[in-house]
Amino acid sequence: MELEPHSRVAIIGGGPAGSMTAYFLMDLARRIDLEIEVDLFEPRDFSLTGPPGCNMCGGVISESLVQKLAISGIHLPNDVLMDTIDAYTLHTDQSHVRIRAASEEMRIACIFRGGGPKGAETQKPLPWQAFDHYLLELARQHGINRIPKRVKKLDWDGDRPRVSWGEGEMRTYDLLVGAVGLNGSGMSMFEELNFGYRPPKYAKSYIAELYFGSREVEQRLGKSMHIFLLNIPRLKFLALTPKGPYATLVVLGDEIDKAMLEQIFRAPEMVGCLPPGWQIPVQTCQCQPRIHIGPPRHPFADRIVMVGDCSSSRLFKDGIGAAYKLAKACAYTAVVHGISKKAFQRYFAPACRELDYDNLLGRVMFFMDDHMRPFSSIQETLIECIRQEQNDPASPGKLSNAMWDTFSGSASYRTILANTASPRVIHHFLTTFFRRLLA
Ligand SMILES: Cc1cc2nc3c(=O)[nH]c(=O)nc-3n(C[C@H](O)[C@H](O)[C@H](O)COP(=O)(O)OP(=O)(O)OC[C@H]3O[C@@H](n4cnc5c(N)ncnc54)[C@H](O)[C@@H]3O)c2cc1C
Repeated sequence: MELEPHSRVAIIGGGPAGSMTAYFLMDLARRIDLEIEVDLFEPRDFSLTGPPGCNMCGGVISESLVQKLAISGIHLPNDVLMDTIDAYTLHTDQSHVRIRAASEEMRIACIFRGGGPKGAETQKPLPWQAFDHYLLELARQHGINRIPKRVKKLDWDGDRPRVSWGEGEMRTYDLLVGAVGLNGSGMSMFEELNFGYRPPKYAKSYIAELYFGSREVEQRLGKSMHIFLLNIPRLKFLALTPKGPYATLVVLGDEIDKAMLEQIFRAPEMVGCLPPGWQIPVQTCQCQPRIHIGPPRHPFADRIVMVGDCSSSRLFKDGIGAAYKLAKACAYTAVVHGISKKAFQRYFAPACRELDYDNLLGRVMFFMDDHMRPFSSIQETLIECIRQEQNDPASPGKLSNAMWDTFSGSASYRTILANTASPRVIHHFLTTFFRRLLA
């Protein structure tokens, strides 16, 4: 079962996973002189501001991913990479420490997935370009056919998948790629095809684009992403990222509600990052997207494969990097090895497994963080160890680097755990902990 000249491929969803799969399919097919037709279905116009043009995300990507994309021929232009961040500021309830990027290659970039926050249209022409718009246009320039429609139904036409959109509009394909993300009902269409697919586990999150104005953003946040390890019940992760005149707030936790947000904005370390007298705006650009927390079941079959968030991803970080990895593995398998279940099992599944196994280690790290959060002495020891590393030019900065990799997504959880669990780091942590205890 292989792609042949004039084979038809349907990709459902034009987020990063769908657009990158389309781009890699066309690129690889061209290299071996295989002419295929790729239809990509995506109803959103990513150049629009606010919810209609946005795929809801924190919008942070590591410099290492920017470089991997460039090696693959995806050169993100300057107006897509809005801001460069060269430090993380780690806040606990009582103090904070700044962690500098160990090198230029370790920096991170900020992007808007859509045209920008609701209300930004008043600044037209916008000084930035949407990341998702850029990727989709790139795929279009490589010869795909973009169909700006929402797919309504999937079924089988014999042994081939059939896609329906609009009134009586349907087409049969040789290969169907699911890149529908986690939000919306796209995944249930694939479940109903009865090839065994079960969607990944997900949790609710919260994102708000807070308008401070460029000067206040520079003064309050600088070129640093601010991570807050606050002891607020049900809160798992909280970050504030500078993005032009905006600060993007990302909250992960169980049952994020108004009371939790009020507690967040009252926390002294958070107040220090807000403009003086700042109040929670009544009509801010905010959303509650789903975030990937567990693997799917059976993400492929003969002539079908799932990529991006509706398949395997990385726990709480680097979702775009994971989408890139699966998009590449999917296109390589389909073009070089075929489109049978057997081919996907042999050449695509290892990429999924690598993400899934690494997430198990990530889960261990988040479990430990959850249980240590209430003990302020442990957190303050962590801050002091990092501060000592940052103030000592001779220090290899292992703990600082592990923190950097955790937040930026530049390394796997396995690498992060290996660095954190090194004898040097454990010794440093324990001696600092007991010295503080006896002081
Ligand atoms: C709070 C939060 C913060 C995050 N922060 C980051 C971050 O800083 N960095 C990072 O790398 N990742 C981050 N992520 C993860 C990242 O957003 C996802 O991993 C990434 O968007 C996955 O891309 P995708 O293409 O699989 O799915 P999506 O981006 O969700 O795209 C799916 C597309 O499919 C389309 N679609 C759906 N149904 C249909 C249909 N029936 N017909 C046609 N089209 C359809 C949708 O319109 C959409 O455009 C974050 C996620 C959350 C929730």
